[in-house]
Amino acid sequence: MSENLNSAQLMELESKHGAHNYHPLPVVLERGEGAYVWDVEGKKYFDFLSAYSAVNQGHCHPRIVGAMVDQARKLTLTSRAFYNDSLGVFEKYATEFFGFDKILPMNTGAEAVETAIKLTRKWGYLVKGIAENQAKIIVCDENFHGRTTTIVSFSSDPDAYSDYGPFTPGFERIPYNNLSALEEALADPNVAGFLVEPIQGEAGVFVPDEGYLKKAYELCKTKNVLFIADEVQTGIARTGKLLAVDHEEVKPDILILGKALGGGVFPVSAVLANDEIMLTIKPGQHGSTFGGNPIAARVAIAALDVVKDENLCERAEKLGNIFREAMRAIDSPMIELVRGKGLLNAVIIKPTNGKEAWDVCVKMAENGLIAKPTHQHIIRFAPPLIITEGQLQDAIEIIKQSILTFA
Ligand code: PMP
Repeated sequence: MSENLNSAQLMELESKHGAHNYHPLPVVLERGEGAYVWDVEGKKYFDFLSAYSAVNQGHCHPRIVGAMVDQARKLTLTSRAFYNDSLGVFEKYATEFFGFDKILPMNTGAEAVETAIKLTRKWGYLVKGIAENQAKIIVCDENFHGRTTTIVSFSSDPDAYSDYGPFTPGFERIPYNNLSALEEALADPNVAGFLVEPIQGEAGVFVPDEGYLKKAYELCKTKNVLFIADEVQTGIARTGKLLAVDHEEVKPDILILGKALGGGVFPVSAVLANDEIMLTIKPGQHGSTFGGNPIAARVAIAALDVVKDENLCERAEKLGNIFREAMRAIDSPMIELVRGKGLLNAVIIKPTNGKEAWDVCVKMAENGLIAKPTHQHIIRFAPPLIITEGQLQDAIEIIKQSILTFA
């Protein structure tokens, strides 16, 4: 295969030979460092998507890449048929880091969500005593938990579920941020768990009312129902705390992590829970060939070390406030609303003069900053958390000038 293809040629290759399950912004990247990425023509951009918050620690963080390369030269994969010298070290580190008895490592976010669903059902039958095949899990409208057949079974987004049926039963959807709907759904004694995103990321960074998570947790406890937090996108410092549930001092029964657990270099996901829940799954009852492999284990330790040593929670909190304030100060009719927490933010774009969120993103890319619209009129802004205040100010100026060219 010849090298040195230009952007147009590379986009053509993907269009011709790849499935059309994505609609990328027309930018072809070849290098990343910190908060920046470069395209094949050498143009530099701020990355304001961070691979959907998988790159919280910044592109190619030397410490994380170092851990990966060192381990890759030694031992990459054993499967769980044998022990290796990295997994237990990671498991001890991560359970202490997040405060749970046990961890079950997987690879992608969707797999971790599937794992949490299976754990919740097992617990429902073996501990709560729900009758066979009757367990129910409550989920929310506009949820995003991944792309497996079971997960899309309870999606409310037609793009996610259409023509993928028949669907997995056992889920009930209620409105997000609605405690009375939750209370009503919890009246069914067959409910085993409530699966929720502390902030709905893919839905467009929808932040629930203050107190919602805490009260939802308490309602679950009164009914002996597991509170399952999907922190695949919101976790690991993104919202200004280690976990988004920390804003309300909620300790989930099951915690789902992914994305930034792999430091943007390797797929690492995990489910954390205490023994009463985790030990319901016995040898042979769940697994993954790659889950908990030595590279993943070493990468995840380094990824969490960076979060701690570089104070990423505090940075996200402080810079997020600066970002939202700056967005709200832009004097343009195109900005309908600014919302978010920490460095997980969204700007709702009001179509103006025939221009909408996609046009703003294309203009920002021209000006050196990449972000992606979600649901047509929402732009998510989620830079790597290692971005400096000076860099953030430069990025804000690009966003501002881009919007002001339209209205
Ligand atoms: N849960 C949430 C909250 C997510 O945002 C995502 C990905 N956007 C997933 C699960 C699925 O993760 P993955 O794409 O790694 O399967």
